Amino acid sequence: MAKQKQRFNKRLIVVSNRMPIVINQDNDQWSIQPGSGGLITALDPILKENKSLWIGWPGAGEEAPVQELLDRFGREQGYKLVGVPLSQYDIEHYYWGFSNGTLWPLHHDLLGYCKFDLKDWQTYVDVNKKFAEVIANQIQENDIIWIHDYQLSMVGNFLKKLKVRLPLAYFHHIPFPSLDLLRRLPWKMEYTKALLAFDLLGFQTLRDRRNFVNSVTSLIPEANILRRQRNFTLIKHRQRIIQVRHLPISIDFDQFNDASHSKEVLDAAWYLHENLHERQLMLGIDRLDYTKGIPERFLAFERALEKYPELKHKISLLQVVVPSRTLDPDYQSLKEQLDQMAGRINSRFGHAGWIPIHYIFRSLDNIQLVAHYRTSEIALITPLRDGMNLVAKEYCACSANDNGVLILSEFAGAADQLGEKALLVNPYDIEKTADTIYQAFSMPFDERQQRMQWLRNQVKKYDVHRWLRNFMKAINEVNSMVDFT
Ligand code: UDP
Repeated sequence: MAKQKQRFNKRLIVVSNRMPIVINQDNDQWSIQPGSGGLITALDPILKENKSLWIGWPGAGEEAPVQELLDRFGREQGYKLVGVPLSQYDIEHYYWGFSNGTLWPLHHDLLGYCKFDLKDWQTYVDVNKKFAEVIANQIQENDIIWIHDYQLSMVGNFLKKLKVRLPLAYFHHIPFPSLDLLRRLPWKMEYTKALLAFDLLGFQTLRDRRNFVNSVTSLIPEANILRRQRNFTLIKHRQRIIQVRHLPISIDFDQFNDASHSKEVLDAAWYLHENLHERQLMLGIDRLDYTKGIPERFLAFERALEKYPELKHKISLLQVVVPSRTLDPDYQSLKEQLDQMAGRINSRFGHAGWIPIHYIFRSLDNIQLVAHYRTSEIALITPLRDGMNLVAKEYCACSANDNGVLILSEFAGAADQLGEKALLVNPYDIEKTADTIYQAFSMPFDERQQRMQWLRNQVKKYDVHRWLRNFMKAINEVNSMVDFT
């Protein structure tokens, strides 16, 4: 049954670092298409209905006719894209430098990867200002401005300085670190204070919300907690009231569930398992990223093969790694480490007719992705830290036979919602993760079914459309509360 999608009657200005588009060149022909993903799917009807705007860096090379493509997109899709041009210097210092090299590892509790560079910080501030100027040039009365993610944490601050008097909402997609970690950031005060310029801040989990509130009240003496409820905290800062919520993002359950029943997916799923004979498939799908815990996962699988010899020939780990940030030396060495580990484990345990780790370094198209979810008996999703982890939710939505077992890191945001019936692991604990792999492998069908039915209901109930409704409801509350004096 199609879910009723809520209607909103205001123009939404969505702002993210990258625009939600894919630009391609085929010979002399350029094409532009909407990107994929739950957020874009959920927002699409609202953007179209209200002739809204999406502002971001187009991300295409200089040779692309960007403006022409953005205009074409607006005509075809029914909402407008506005580009924020970034120079090579901006990209190097704002994007690769401060966003990816400082904030990303800091917010994932991986201090060892952080670099703290004044030029990176200054460029981050300048680019955030540039985004605010582009936004200020586009807005109309009654618009709602919704900024996405850590690359743009200071945009609200610059919009307020530009005297923009519209409600400013922000969603932080990645984890928020504890005060102890945040204190390592040389610009912690500026960073934290700038976030208080938003009127509504959304975080993925209660822990992220608490970390933020605790950082604010510890670092900024003039900020106080006005009210703390189960669903939100109100902070008073000078004359303003700021609403802080935890609103875990999700996926379009129906879209994945429907796709998992399509003929193309069933054919592809059959073919995947046909090639793997009488074997359980254990799936890992991640972007290439040191936060995803892939080397630790390989070690846990190796330990499971050592400790439980009955797994040999009976289980294969199918690890899909989607290339990402491949220009960064940290990511290049992670790739080399994974190549080397998969080779070592396969030559240690592999036999004719059985490869322990199938390791694929590329992205999958949608049919293949859903087929992998649908056909895998186990998903092994063990990030060291993750804002949410949508792959975990997508796996449940596609486990249409109710026979999948989800092994999930307790440090993924998704564990808050799915932890009751997933098998939770600490990815740093190789021994226990190995035991959990064996537990999942040996789990009787009844138990698998009972757990997966619960997980699927949970993902279905709290889908991305509900997330969006809740966020928009919170924005409306802010609207009536904002004090512009
Ligand atoms: N994904 C994809 N192609 C692939 C593998 C994964 O588009 O070949 C998508 C997947 O469907 C999911 C997203 O990438 O929606 C990964 O999101 P997640 O929250 O798990 O991790 P992130 O990459 O955002 O850190």
